[in-house]
Amino acid sequence: MTVTVPVTECAVANCSFNDHTHCGAAGITIGGNSDHAQCATFIDTGIQGGLPKVLASVGACQRSECSHNENLMCGASSVRVGPGADNADCLTYEHSS
Ligand code: SF4
Repeated sequence: MTVTVPVTECAVANCSFNDHTHCGAAGITIGGNSDHAQCATFIDTGIQGGLPKVLASVGACQRSECSHNENLMCGASSVRVGPGADNADCLTYEHSS
């Protein structure tokens, strides 16, 4: 498992942490349920949040049924976030069978 799992792209333009398809939060948390993995860090405040020139990484992930999940941490090499079943979902989510 890699320690840092970068969020290489986020297509959720109305999130306060979004800056031209990049996430400026230092770390994100993935929540949701077994139907989809929702970005729990998403917030639309109308003001810019986060840090400039930061590439966010996945801090924790509650989707234990995802094939990339190990001990509630993400084991993927990177993730993408964007609209899915919800406005902001982890698009790298794979429900393990
Ligand atoms: S790929 Fe899977 S384990 Fe990684 S953040 Fe997305 S839902 Fe969580």
